[in-house]
Amino acid sequence: MALRVQKYGGTSVADIERISNVADRVQKAYDKGDQVVVVLSAMAGVTDKLISLAKQASENPDKRELDVLLATGEQTTAALLAMILKSRGYQAKSFLGFQAGIHTDKASGKARIMDIDCKKVQKALDNGNIAVMAGFQGTDRDGNITTLGRGGSDTSAVAIASSLKADVCEIFTDVDGVYTTDPRICSAARKISKISYDEMLEMAILGAKVLQIRSVEFAKKFNVPVHVRSSFNEEEGTMVINESADMESAIVSGVTCDMNEARITLKRVPDQPGVSAKIFGPLAKAEIMVDMIIQNTRSDGETDLTFTVTKDDFERAREISEAVAKKIGAAEVLTGTEIAKVSVIGLGMKSHSGVAAIMFEALASENINIRLISTSEIRISCVILSKYAELAVRTLHTAFGLDQEK
Ligand code: ADP
Ligand code: ASP
Ligand code: MG
Repeated sequence: MALRVQKYGGTSVADIERISNVADRVQKAYDKGDQVVVVLSAMAGVTDKLISLAKQASENPDKRELDVLLATGEQTTAALLAMILKSRGYQAKSFLGFQAGIHTDKASGKARIMDIDCKKVQKALDNGNIAVMAGFQGTDRDGNITTLGRGGSDTSAVAIASSLKADVCEIFTDVDGVYTTDPRICSAARKISKISYDEMLEMAILGAKVLQIRSVEFAKKFNVPVHVRSSFNEEEGTMVINESADMESAIVSGVTCDMNEARITLKRVPDQPGVSAKIFGPLAKAEIMVDMIIQNTRSDGETDLTFTVTKDDFERAREISEAVAKKIGAAEVLTGTEIAKVSVIGLGMKSHSGVAAIMFEALASENINIRLISTSEIRISCVILSKYAELAVRTLHTAFGLDQEK
């Protein structure tokens, strides 16, 4: 008997018919003799709708109450699936985050799971129930409802799988697995059969939203095998596991694109010790994460400093930068929101040179101008204008030999 955690995303539970399909799959696993914990997202579009309602109610919705509201999306689907299973004669029980013992920190809207007390879920399983858990939510130490950030049901699933020592955590979604790039952007994308936690983590960080970043961090830390697969067919998907000898160690194994960043440039910053601290200190204090940073010292001794932040943090980051620019005597602050970060990722890069040159040549061949560059041991990222994002992804996919054979 295996213990399986199965997570179904928004499109997989978009209406009653699809929730019934989920019930079919869950039943099948249960009838085989496995113990099953199901983790559900809200119906597709519901979280967005709730956010829009909150914005109609208040210009700046209270964060605690926003989490109370957003958590209802997952409460709905969990109750509906449990009802369907029960009406078919199966023993099933729904659990909200707090009932499943998901304890988080206090960071409303982006809470982190601190610990899980899975006794109640374990007991329900031991009594022959299918446990149906609302994803994306938990409670903080004071009992306030919290949510885990967009895409957070992935993290709920991996976390409960780790806590219950499940044999596998299956992430059922609307694509067949993890692809070499987003299959919706590039029709030549190939499904990857096995991918290491490290590569998957880079892909998630760099914009492949198929798994939430924290879910991959969790899976890596606690060694949870994750199987990403389609909820609409029976195909094997992608196993996300530790790096193993039989894994392809392609120089580049994936291409990603992130449209969620914006650029801020401080022009003619005085070239003195301590200026960077004066700029980035206030941003850090405001809990704004800065991603790429580039600094050019000009021949006249002044410096242009450019950095990127997420679009959510952009307005606040701009206000702070303008105030700092005045204080330190920078000439002006320029911004750009129509940007995209395209990246190539691969474990094989550790031992190969020349990858950056291939990337730059490929972009140049399409006349795509590179605004910013950053690298790590296993990835290279370039910021370009967003109107070229899809072209860049397809061009890089071909340039690194990732296209599917026709
Ligand atoms: P769910 O609602 O099931 O959580 P998401 O929309 O969060 O689904 O994630 C699945 C989507 O991720 C796919 O529809 C696909 O467009 C996108 N995606 C981006 N990059 C990749 C990739 N490399 N492989 C697979 N899917 C990707
Ligand atoms: N419903 C939440 C969202 O749309 C969480 C999730 O689906 O994982 O982000
Ligand atoms: Mg998702």
